[in-house]
Amino acid sequence: MFATLSDRLADTFKNLRGKGRLSEADIDATAREIRIALLEADVALPVVKEFVGAVKERARSEEVSGALNPAQQIIKIVHDELVTILGGETRRLRYAKSGPTVIMLAGLQGAGKTTLAAKLALWLKDQDKTPLLVAADLQRPNAVQQLQVNGERVGVPVFAPEPGNGTGNPVDVARASIEEARRRLHDVVIIDTAGRLGVDETLMQQAADIRDAVQPDEVLFVVDAMIGQDAVTTAQAFLDGVGYDGVVLTKLDGDARGGAALSIRSITGKPVMFASSGEKMTDFDLFHPDRMASRILDMGDMLTLIEQAEKAFDSEQAMRAAEKLGTKGGFTLEDFLQQMMQIRKLGSMTKIMGMLPGMGQFRDQLENFDEREIDRIQAIIQSMTPAERENPKIIDGSRRARIAKGSGRQVSDVNQLVDRFFEARKMMEQMARGGGVPGMPGMPG
Ligand code: GDP
Repeated sequence: MFATLSDRLADTFKNLRGKGRLSEADIDATAREIRIALLEADVALPVVKEFVGAVKERARSEEVSGALNPAQQIIKIVHDELVTILGGETRRLRYAKSGPTVIMLAGLQGAGKTTLAAKLALWLKDQDKTPLLVAADLQRPNAVQQLQVNGERVGVPVFAPEPGNGTGNPVDVARASIEEARRRLHDVVIIDTAGRLGVDETLMQQAADIRDAVQPDEVLFVVDAMIGQDAVTTAQAFLDGVGYDGVVLTKLDGDARGGAALSIRSITGKPVMFASSGEKMTDFDLFHPDRMASRILDMGDMLTLIEQAEKAFDSEQAMRAAEKLGTKGGFTLEDFLQQMMQIRKLGSMTKIMGMLPGMGQFRDQLENFDEREIDRIQAIIQSMTPAERENPKIIDGSRRARIAKGSGRQVSDVNQLVDRFFEARKMMEQMARGGGVPGMPGMPG
């Protein structure tokens, strides 16, 4: 996600590092590089212009010239502006004050709507809601069945027209589903509507008819982020044709550039509310502009990481670990091991490590990450005494040799692990103190 942009911006900031003052030429050069970075990330031109203009203006202002370290100030400004174009505040779902909350999904075929419907249902279930999925996509031959399969996977019932009655009217199905939800006390209704291969009038009309019939609390436009600027064009067409309240970006995992995510809000004026980033039902979450900006700038996304750990596992332990990050030297190798073992259950390390600050420079290694490496790290830590895990500073040469032997690894492996641990801890402590916003020790390089 956003790999191109992250790398580009990291290079840009590298050139600024160590400069005590920024000349007009420095600012111009930086602005130019940021412009290229955004264009390469496939961000829409008007958005690029506005972004670069804002950064430039602020870079010339007091906040930068008066600062001790102008380069860090520039990074902070870029962070702020990224948060702004990504939508500012996290836009959360609005629930109906009485009766079931009705969420209607619209979008092109293949956008990932049906998958998304189930992911959203699961996410709502985790928020203690009792959702009902509604199959109002009666166009695509097996759309109903696909939703039923997905519904089963996440344990959420699906309301669909009787089999053999496949020519039914989607507006009637949608209307009937609300009645069904009231009867069966579902508090959220998720209506999956038909998509087409391209934007067309009939499709828009049908979506508009369903919308008028059920008066949804939220109409969400689902769009494949991998199609880049086409996503933005389609989003605009749907906005004019049907209208919606928020956007859901799918397949962010396959989108190295990020152009759609970065442009869609500014172009349509509608917030990105959710992001889907994988084939698994749990690869889905609220879209947090500030966290996304931190990820782009390779400042990590510890909040999401800790949240996920809390959700799936021992929340007390996760809380303790989070607290320890805030105290100097508080986070130990034992904590690291415990967290690693818990987090590991969440899925691939590649994904999880990607949320740690400063990992951008290891992107290639991450992508080729050998999951067995975790077994090796685990073996090394488990070959340490409790005292060593609590206070890794005592691990001297002879202890390293013993640990290497005990875990069947080389001394260099032990060295590497211990060094990396100290480095990561320092970085995380600084982030925790700085509230995760730049002062920016987490920056790469
Ligand atoms: P629909 O036509 O809009 O209902 O799209 P589907 O839900 O059938 O999804 C189309 C394809 O995209 C399927 O193969 C999904 O598995 C895949 N897909 C959906 N969401 C994601 C995602 O976030 N990441 C990836 N990699 N694939 C996804």
